[in-house]
Amino acid sequence: MTSQKPKAHSTPHRPSQGNRDFRNRTARGGSSSGEQKNIPRSTAQPIIGNAAAQPAIVLKAGREKSLLRRHPWIFSGAIERVDGAPISGDTLKVRDASGNFLAWAAYNSASQITARAWSWREEEKIDAEFFRRRIANAIAARNHTPSLNPSPVGRVIASPHPSGVGKEGGGMRLIHAESDGLPGLVVDRYGDVLVMQIGSAGPERWRDTCADILQQLCDPVCIYERSDSDSRTLEGLAPRNGVLRGILPESVEVIEHGLHFKVDAVAGQKTGFYLDQRDNRALTEILARDKDVLNCFCYTGGFSLYALRGGAKSVLSIDASGDALRIAKENLSNNGLDATRAEWLEADVFQALRKLRDQGRSFDLIILDPPKFAPTAAFAEKAARGYKDINLLGFKLLRPGGLLVTYSCSGGINAELFQKIIAGAALDAGVDAQIIHQLHASNDHPILLSFPEGSYLKGLVLRAGV
Ligand code: SAH
Repeated sequence: MTSQKPKAHSTPHRPSQGNRDFRNRTARGGSSSGEQKNIPRSTAQPIIGNAAAQPAIVLKAGREKSLLRRHPWIFSGAIERVDGAPISGDTLKVRDASGNFLAWAAYNSASQITARAWSWREEEKIDAEFFRRRIANAIAARNHTPSLNPSPVGRVIASPHPSGVGKEGGGMRLIHAESDGLPGLVVDRYGDVLVMQIGSAGPERWRDTCADILQQLCDPVCIYERSDSDSRTLEGLAPRNGVLRGILPESVEVIEHGLHFKVDAVAGQKTGFYLDQRDNRALTEILARDKDVLNCFCYTGGFSLYALRGGAKSVLSIDASGDALRIAKENLSNNGLDATRAEWLEADVFQALRKLRDQGRSFDLIILDPPKFAPTAAFAEKAARGYKDINLLGFKLLRPGGLLVTYSCSGGINAELFQKIIAGAALDAGVDAQIIHQLHASNDHPILLSFPEGSYLKGLVLRAGV
């Protein structure tokens, strides 16, 4: 991987489903703070209160309930008035209609999520020490939670995990935004490089503080900022993409369960790699032995490489992005895997699946890991049609007794609805199927109980009847 942006390319994608190709940084879930991306910005109209008063957000009567349940978002519609003359990024007290303290929150007049709570404790100061505590907690929680891919993350603990890959080369989400008490802030670690993604005005204000703390705690060679997701526009924030600390190495890579993957921190999707699928990729390895595998939406070859290492007979991988496929092929050869069992196809999956059906092809194991079709519930119906389409075709291409591994990373489609869509697809395909695994993001993407929006990734492993 170079630090240069790959050339823009034209990838086929269905215009009706928006731009979800390699160049679309928000194409796939993972940043909880991106959930508001389809809320029109023009509806955010904070009501100006008493400009001479202490800056504060005062909620309408009865609209304090979700904050009391510790949901961190304060929507513009819940706000009675904003006192003082705050600017975006300021930390404000949030009060209920009777004047009681509810939370400290980062204000953003440009977003319909007008404030995001930092803390529910009135005595807590939102300063550099606050960020140090939250960041250190997030890192310590990961270091002290056993994981299928243990990978200590810096100086916070002294000794490397006994069974882990050590600090060298490991990948992990260190900070998962709202779920780690840091709304709008995502930090992923790829070996000695940290990639930071800022999605809202609060962490935008504290960018340098957070970078300094991460530098001290993790000692990376580089902190790279990938704050260029579409959702930033809705927050009134300009895109940023560049080095924050240190020097970006010529090549960034992550070692995951012993496999090496190149990470395009500069121009790849999200922060460059899909860490959320790490454990699910490992499951693929044990499912793939002696199978003919079809991996749709393969990106840089994650599931494909695991399948090959697991002894798949053949793996056909499809993605619309030529850049992603180039990296996938490099990854294949860097891991010394048998290229003769791998076939790569640059195509639109919706069309490719139809072609494969018309050619009478069939597979033992099919993986469908599409980009986010429904960022919010408002898009659920249209997204459901997309999911049904590819899953119906997937079932049709499956041999009797075969496995369909299907994912949705849409925040707007919950697990129950996803399962219903898949049931409909199986019915229409004339396939009786059983769920044999229910899957989620890896445990470095925790879900705060009070913030169900954090549970965006769901997957099902289905076995077709014989
Ligand atoms: N499974 C991958 C992540 C998939 S991300 C992993 O584990 O790393 C979604 C991928 O879908 C991206 O690589 C994007 O380029 C691709 N994509 C988006 N729309 C597509 C389409 N219509 N046809 C084919 N690929 C598409």
